[in-house]
Amino acid sequence: MTIDLRSDTVTKPTPAMLEAMMQAQVGDDVFGEDPTVKQLEEKCARLLGMDAAVYCPSGTMTNQIGIKVLTQPYDEVICYKGAHIYKYEGGGLAGNSHVSARLLTGDRGRISVEEIAPNINSSDSHYPRTSVVALENTVVREAGSFYTLKQIETVCDFAKSKGLKTHLDGARLFNALTETGDRPDTIGIHFDTVSVCLSKGLGAPVGSVLVCKKEHEANARRMRKVFGGGMRQAGFLAAAGLYALDHHITRLKEDHARAKVIGKTAEKLSFVKSVMPVDTNIIIFELIPEVTPERFLLAVAGQGLKALAFSATEIRMVTHLDFDDRQLEKTIDVLSKLRF
Ligand SMILES: *Cc1c(COP(=O)(O)O)cnc(C)c1O
Repeated sequence: MTIDLRSDTVTKPTPAMLEAMMQAQVGDDVFGEDPTVKQLEEKCARLLGMDAAVYCPSGTMTNQIGIKVLTQPYDEVICYKGAHIYKYEGGGLAGNSHVSARLLTGDRGRISVEEIAPNINSSDSHYPRTSVVALENTVVREAGSFYTLKQIETVCDFAKSKGLKTHLDGARLFNALTETGDRPDTIGIHFDTVSVCLSKGLGAPVGSVLVCKKEHEANARRMRKVFGGGMRQAGFLAAAGLYALDHHITRLKEDHARAKVIGKTAEKLSFVKSVMPVDTNIIIFELIPEVTPERFLLAVAGQGLKALAFSATEIRMVTHLDFDDRQLEKTIDVLSKLRF
C-alpha cells in the first residue's frame, strides 16, 4: 500500500465521479456550446454569490487571469510574500500582467489593514500604481491557515475605500469555510475575482473556476483564450467538478481531523524540530539539522509513504479524499518507528 501525502492534487476520480463524467452532455465550449461547462460556471457563480464564472484548466490560470483583468502593466499587487500567485506561478505576475508585487509578511500569511495601508503607493510618478490586494485562503505556505469572514471583510472594505481591486486565491476556499462555518456566498460579495480549485480537496481530476463580477467576465474569457485555456468538449471534466461540489465538500472535515492527528504525532518525533499549527488539511514540519528532507523522504519511501520537501529544512504532507483511516494508522506507525 503506497500512501501519497505529497498534495491533495494526487486523488483519482471515484467510480461515481467517473460515471458522472461518462454521462456528461458536451459541446464546443470555445463556441460557448458546452452545457455542462455552463452548468458548472452558473453553479459556482451562484454558490459564491457572484455574477459570473469562467472554467479553466488550472488554478494557476485562474489566478493569472484574475490578476490580468484587474491590473494594467506597471501596476503593483499587494500580497503575502509566500503567496502562490507570487512564489509558485513561475513569475507569471511579471510575465503575464507586467506588474510588480509588494510582499507582506502577514500573520501566518494573513495580511491585515495595518500592514497593507503603509504599502499602498502614493500617486508620485516614481512609484508603481498599487491596484490590487490579493489574499489567499487557505494559505498553502503557512500550513493551511485561514481567514475569518470578519478579517476578509475588514481587508476588502479597506481596499475598496482606497480604490483598490481585490482578488482571492481560494484554491482551498472550501477547506477554510469548513472551519469557519461560513456560507460560500458570504465570500463573493467582497472580491472582484475569486479562484477556486476543483482538483485539490474536492477531488476532481482537472479544473479551476474563476468566479468574478460580470464586468470582468468577457475580459477573463478573452484572456483564457490568450493563455491557451480555451477547451472544447470540456463538459466531461466539468461534470467531475459538478460532482465534486455536490459530494465532496462536507467530507473535508475528515481531512482536517486526520491532518491534526498527523500534526500531533509529528510533534512527538525526535527528528522534528517544530510543527506549524495544523488548521485545515496541510501539515508542515521542520526537521532537525541532522536530518535533511532528502534523508527523511528516502526513509519514508522505503515504508511506502510519500511526502514533499517544502524547503531545505521542511516537509509537507496534505490529507485528501484518497487518504482514509487505515492509511492514517499506517502513516502514524511509519512516522513513529522512524530512527535516524
Ligand atoms: C494548487 C494551488 C493553486 C493552483 O494550482 P494549479 O496546480 O495550477 O491548479 C493556486 N493557489 C494555491 C494556494 C494552491 O495551493
